[in-house]
Amino acid sequence: MAVEGHYNCGSILVLLSFFPPASVISYCSNCRRAGGALCSVNFLVPISDVKIIDEQGLLKSYEGSNTVSENTIARRFCGKCGSPVMTMLDGERRRLLLKLRYLTRF
Ligand SMILES: [Zn+2]
Repeated sequence: MAVEGHYNCGSILVLLSFFPPASVISYCSNCRRAGGALCSVNFLVPISDVKIIDEQGLLKSYEGSNTVSENTIARRFCGKCGSPVMTMLDGERRRLLLKLRYLTRF
């Protein structure tokens, strides 16, 4: 089943070719700061199954290297409304962390 989601301003649309069977919760300090919450809840999904529609080129990136794993990650967010969209993991070219709360099924 395909799943879609959008962010606060509706400028960026995310399409997933399936509904992920499990979520990933991070309590690290970087994720808490980035999301302004006690934890960050994501889907770990294959990049090949995600389609990002960003017709206005609003998707921005923040590269952070001060991580527990010491790997650099890229936090992608909407440049218009500031909504976190996904996190690209350094060295992980096949999967990404997609913010769970924006999918329309929730
Ligand atoms: Zn937005």
